[in-house]
Amino acid sequence: MHTHEFVYTGRAARVVFGAGKRATIGDEVRLLGARRALVICGLEQRALGESLSAALEGASAGLFDRAAMHVPATLAREARELAGQLRADCLIAAGGGSAIGLAKAVALTSGLPVIAVPSTYAGSEMTPIYGITEGGLKRTGSDLRVLPRTVVYDPELTLSLPTALSLTSGINAIAHAAEGLYARDANPVTSLFAHEGITALARSLPTLAREPSNLDARADALYGAWLCGSVLGSVGMALHHKLCHTLGGSFDLPHAPTHTVVLPHALAYNASAAPQAMARIADALGCDDAPAGIHALARELGVPVSLAALGMREADLDRAADLACQNAYWNPRPLERAPIRALLQRAFDGAPPALS
Ligand code: NAD
Repeated sequence: MHTHEFVYTGRAARVVFGAGKRATIGDEVRLLGARRALVICGLEQRALGESLSAALEGASAGLFDRAAMHVPATLAREARELAGQLRADCLIAAGGGSAIGLAKAVALTSGLPVIAVPSTYAGSEMTPIYGITEGGLKRTGSDLRVLPRTVVYDPELTLSLPTALSLTSGINAIAHAAEGLYARDANPVTSLFAHEGITALARSLPTLAREPSNLDARADALYGAWLCGSVLGSVGMALHHKLCHTLGGSFDLPHAPTHTVVLPHALAYNASAAPQAMARIADALGCDDAPAGIHALARELGVPVSLAALGMREADLDRAADLACQNAYWNPRPLERAPIRALLQRAFDGAPPALS
């Protein structure tokens, strides 16, 4: 355990949680001492952006509704220019990781404070990590200027999230907590968050699969996503996140479903090197074995469990294994190409996770 010696860095954000809380967005802007908020969203979330803009009344400076996946640098520049023209003194990011990512990119160069109103379980709102894509390359970094100052979690916003995306986005959140439990810089506080976050998601996702409009389960899932996102923002990630970053970036696989397919296999790879973390994950899932428990959860939810089903080509598995071993990064178990290639094969086939 990590209870004798540790470093815990609290990421200061005000969190406002509850159904309907998006209506308080004007108060949150005023609390930051701001008067002119630029709302940032994607086209699909334009209705949400407009409703927030309307709720702001005189404190709305305008709306930028073209957030897109992977934060293209051209869009970041356009949104930054618009913020300048409108003399915005604060940014409101409304939507999933793409909208929040764009607001972060604007905050990086403008220093404007961000209020996030998340509508998925991806967790970007709780991290100081940003990514900007230019010339086909995604540059990522960490800067406290991009960490949202306030996060308004309103579970009603997640009611429109398609069921399959809700379920895979929920497992995407579990992945942050699972890797956080075996992080090199894990500490008792983030581990509490991780355990509680996995528990809340493991409890709520099966209900959501049956009743996507169940607001109590939506609130429980969003609560879990907050906790898991906060783990992502506080401690380092490892093999699982690297694999998903590689598969998403180089082979264009969808973010949340890729996390869902890979997680049981990445955990199986690390199981022998992180037995205490595995025991806590299993306890939170209510099962005996963490990798098998995640695989069983995905099967119960009826979401894809193979990379083949996500459109990956088997011929690309070798290159994916090579990329995953590049740019050495910390992992509880050293990176070994052959077992990583084997785990990718099992993920491709949708086979149960196996220790190797
Ligand atoms: P996303 O924002 O692209 O949303 C996925 C899809 O869901 C989009 O089509 C979007 O329009 C739709 N959607 C979102 N909310 C909806 C709602 N309530 N109702 C209906 N449809 C809705 O993706 P995401 O899964 O939220 O986040 C993934 C992205 O965020 C990735 O690019 C990832 O790299 C990034 N991310 C970054 C961090 C970080 O710390 N920087 C953390 C997690 C994720």
